[in-house]
Amino acid sequence: MPKTLQEIADFYPIGLSSYGSIEGLELFSSKSIEDRIIDWCYKSQFTKKIAPTIERKIRNGTIVVGYLNDKTTYWFWKKFKNWIHHTVLGNPSLIINGYFSPDDNRIVILLDSNVNILGNAVRYIPNKLVHELVHYAANDNISRFLSVTMNKYLIPYYRTVITEISPNIGLNDSDLKSAIARVTNDNEGLYVNNANVYMSGNTWYKLLMKYKNKQDSLSIMNKMSLPYLMFIVGSAKNKYKNLAYKVMDDYYDGYLHLGFDAEDLTIPGQEFRFPSEVVAIASENDLGNGVASLINST
Ligand SMILES: [Zn+2]
Repeated sequence: MPKTLQEIADFYPIGLSSYGSIEGLELFSSKSIEDRIIDWCYKSQFTKKIAPTIERKIRNGTIVVGYLNDKTTYWFWKKFKNWIHHTVLGNPSLIINGYFSPDDNRIVILLDSNVNILGNAVRYIPNKLVHELVHYAANDNISRFLSVTMNKYLIPYYRTVITEISPNIGLNDSDLKSAIARVTNDNEGLYVNNANVYMSGNTWYKLLMKYKNKQDSLSIMNKMSLPYLMFIVGSAKNKYKNLAYKVMDDYYDGYLHLGFDAEDLTIPGQEFRFPSEVVAIASENDLGNGVASLINST
């Protein structure tokens, strides 16, 4: 076992052992971590409704809360910033990352070596689990995911964002719905991949073309893609930074329209390609009954 992990294991009585891998990287966790998280998820108001599902997935290894070994940590962090389907919780004393790997069909809540899982850190975990479980559920069954979330989250969200970018565009629900379904089907379960970015762009562009001329549609679509390219992939040119921040506000307005302020929860961008991100963020704020049953059906 790597040195720092050994130190963690010595310091906290948690008995770390190997829990297989995610993206080829070995994970470490323990029975006492499992027990602690499960116990907390039953007690937390937030995860009460889905606690038996969380328990089942922790016991069968679908969800792992644990550590990577030291050798791979640096490499992981470097790679991680370009990964999608992840959430980060950071404060000066601890960092917890949630990540869903479509390839391994596994959720990992990755703990920093400073995190004492037997202490306060545990209270941050239920929200992160909900977030990743929404991505898991979308990937598990796209059409079920869309039917539960389309009217309550996705249409109001994307209508707000697009209307903020282009006021008076006047989209109709059924066109918007097919575009959202198309983007979801093209992307869920996939990594950052340029071909898919273009596919999403093309889908939004075709939707916008029904309402605007070619030039305007292209410009709206480019604006929509900007936070994703700037903040998630990091491929947008620096001169677009101010515009990216402006469009980021439009994405935040989408969350305000759903009834909450997402500024402490996320830096928007993934929404351009992954409609499940909208539902993951909204559910991290407040887990509705529909999404809770969706998670419980996985
Ligand atoms: Zn996410």
